[in-house]
Amino acid sequence: MNIPKSSFPRVVIVGGGFGGVALAKELSGKEVQVVLLDKNNYHTFQPLLYQVSTGGLEPDSIAYPIRKILQDYKNFFFRMAELQQVVREQKIVVTNIGELSYDHLVIAVGSETNFFGNIEIEKNGMAMKSIPQSLNLRSMILENFEQALLTDNLHERDALMNFVIVGGGPTGVELAGALAEIKKGILPKDYPDLDTRRAQINLIQSGDRILKEMSEKASEKAEDFLESLGVQIWKNTRVTDYDGKKVSTKTKLEFEAATLVWAAGVKGVSIKGLDAENFLVPGNRIKVNEFNQVVGDSNIYAIGDIACIQSDTTPYGHPMMAQPAIQQGTHLGENLVRLFDNKAMQPFKYKDKGSMATVGRNKAVVDLKKYRFQGVFAWFVWMFVHLFFLIGFRNRMVVFINWVYNYIRFDREARLIIRPYQRDYSKFNEPRTSKKEV
Ligand SMILES: Cc1cc2nc3c(=O)[nH]c(=O)nc-3n(C[C@H](O)[C@H](O)[C@H](O)COP(=O)(O)OP(=O)(O)OC[C@H]3O[C@@H](n4cnc5c(N)ncnc54)[C@H](O)[C@@H]3O)c2cc1C
Repeated sequence: MNIPKSSFPRVVIVGGGFGGVALAKELSGKEVQVVLLDKNNYHTFQPLLYQVSTGGLEPDSIAYPIRKILQDYKNFFFRMAELQQVVREQKIVVTNIGELSYDHLVIAVGSETNFFGNIEIEKNGMAMKSIPQSLNLRSMILENFEQALLTDNLHERDALMNFVIVGGGPTGVELAGALAEIKKGILPKDYPDLDTRRAQINLIQSGDRILKEMSEKASEKAEDFLESLGVQIWKNTRVTDYDGKKVSTKTKLEFEAATLVWAAGVKGVSIKGLDAENFLVPGNRIKVNEFNQVVGDSNIYAIGDIACIQSDTTPYGHPMMAQPAIQQGTHLGENLVRLFDNKAMQPFKYKDKGSMATVGRNKAVVDLKKYRFQGVFAWFVWMFVHLFFLIGFRNRMVVFINWVYNYIRFDREARLIIRPYQRDYSKFNEPRTSKKEV
């Protein structure tokens, strides 16, 4: 990888997400050589992926070059590389561009969509965990409407305009709200020759309330908001199969839909060499102690979504969200410096700053430690927090201007099919004789 030898200890960070970047920032200016590896050359602000999928934002406004984050730091190296294996005995990582030795290794590779082993849903459904996936979804949504114009079979047309979102967490709720707003404000203007009132947005949740990690008040209010936008919420309903057209559920409810978005769970990214059962907890997360050290190897650490600190107060680890990742990254940076100074490391303590979700224009729910509120003020708080955590002044400005423009114009101008999503529409062109066409 052409990384020079150094007299300082080498810390290899794998993953330039929220955790990896927070750690890198904390180590800047310290007597250490840092090598950051990521399979992409950019950091992704995942909380706004749904806005890319729905044409509200261009992808480059939620991505930021990792090299730019590191450019002022001395002794920092970045390589665009995908981690393939950790060889603990030799203290090396194996990647698609070669091997690299480490003194300290930090795994910050995050999580991936968990289809819970359902191959058909994985094959036919859409995930929204990365920018390419969000762009696929954006293209597919728009292509479905283009296709709906071409069929004169009402049944097929309805299926092309039918959206099923599985998972009533913040991602599902935010996406459902955004699609409902598109249906109301944009589709009738873009497709005047299509009866877009027939488009349906179905949000399916296996449990008895949406946003189950938030307060009951937030769940209730989010449901009210979504229903006021015309979203149909199906609770206590578990999706069991999807063949690209028919969505089946455990309760025998069926939907015909060209789009199924799977937002029903994530699991830790698998790392060869750290994938033995003794390293993992359910959800494929790596078991770490309160110093983020991988159990059984004090030179390897894991932070963020991939890491699970199990304790009496956190039996399932910390929530797989940006704040725990950022806080663990910063804390581990402080701990590594303590270690290099021969001081004792401090245990990680999570400061829960609350959670929030937006449903759409003027509609959001916020649960802070002391205060809970919903509606317009919550929406402004949601926007402010997201702008604050976006990396880069340009990105903040672009997102802010886009939001103001969209607010004033009731618009989302990035509804472009730049890179068509290749889907097989043959299922939606089958002649149907049983239904009378109109
Ligand atoms: C659609 C969506 C909406 C979300 N909304 C919110 C929200 O509103 N609030 C909130 O707090 N959280 C939200 N989250 C969760 C939040 O984004 C994650 O918890 C957070 O990104 C975890 O940070 P991390 O550093 O652990 O991993 P990530 O930020 O995912 O970073 C992991 C990095 O590792 C890289 N990587 C992965 N595998 C490899 C490999 N093998 N080799 C090299 N590099 C690799 C990736 O390219 C990536 O850059 C959302 C997530 C999604 C998908």
